[in-house]
Amino acid sequence: MAKTICLIDASKCMGCRGCQAACKQWNQLPAEDTTFEGTYENPSRLSSSTWMKIKFREQDNENGGVDWLMTKQGCMHCSDAACILACPAGALYRTEFDTVSVDEVKCIGCNYCAGVCPFQVVGFDRLANKARKCTFCIDRLQNGLKPACATACPTGSISYGDSRELIDKATKRLSQLKAAGKTNANIYGLTEVDGTAMLYVLEDNPEKYGFPADPHVPIQTRLFNAIYAPLRILVVVAVGIGLWSNWNRSKKIEEAKEKPN
Ligand code: SF4
Ligand code: SF4
Ligand code: SF4
Repeated sequence: MAKTICLIDASKCMGCRGCQAACKQWNQLPAEDTTFEGTYENPSRLSSSTWMKIKFREQDNENGGVDWLMTKQGCMHCSDAACILACPAGALYRTEFDTVSVDEVKCIGCNYCAGVCPFQVVGFDRLANKARKCTFCIDRLQNGLKPACATACPTGSISYGDSRELIDKATKRLSQLKAAGKTNANIYGLTEVDGTAMLYVLEDNPEKYGFPADPHVPIQTRLFNAIYAPLRILVVVAVGIGLWSNWNRSKKIEEAKEKPN
């Protein structure tokens, strides 16, 4: 199977958030109560029910005006995926499309994946005790459809297709932006974490959009994986017992509180 990716051309994003709404709608993710936190982003952060959102960054330009830097934030589907290496239960896995998914049945809710993800895109459902994130719309891919966000985008900022064609498209777009005076324009996700299935064309440095300049898998995560991967079953059992003990203790405390004196 030819490798497919999404190309996100930030220079074409107008911040309409059609992609964000399409992600919610297709994946049946509920709305969240939000408050204004001083940014134009709503919600302000990703969560178990918001798997992607549009980032808004405002910056002064040399003409005395303001530039808007807007782009999609969500799981990058890294080739070198810290979440897969960190998960003691083997719940994070690489799919047949070379994307990264969570197997909710295997997830034990330890939240390690969220802690090590260099892009901080894993949401945690406290009620279900499960990690949740963008699935790259794998159920759509398996049925020959494009991801919902790429389908909804009215400006062509998000495209989906063959990786070689989209890398070529990104390279041409980068040349256009440089020729137009965007000297800091760059392609993000080509080499970072060995390449990401969400590839970006950015008009300015990654940090200006809130992306890490040098995302990488923490060394502790690699060590953990090398040492403990063979003992995964034992780790799962130990974490399971720990979680069960915590739950049982909380239950007993609640029951003691409810008993009449
Ligand atoms: S962005 Fe984070 S959650 Fe997504 S594949 Fe990479 S490490 Fe895993
Ligand atoms: S690929 Fe699907 S799940 Fe991922 S951000 Fe796009 S719409 Fe949401
Ligand atoms: S739908 Fe397209 S233009 Fe609208 S916010 Fe999303 S990426 Fe930007």
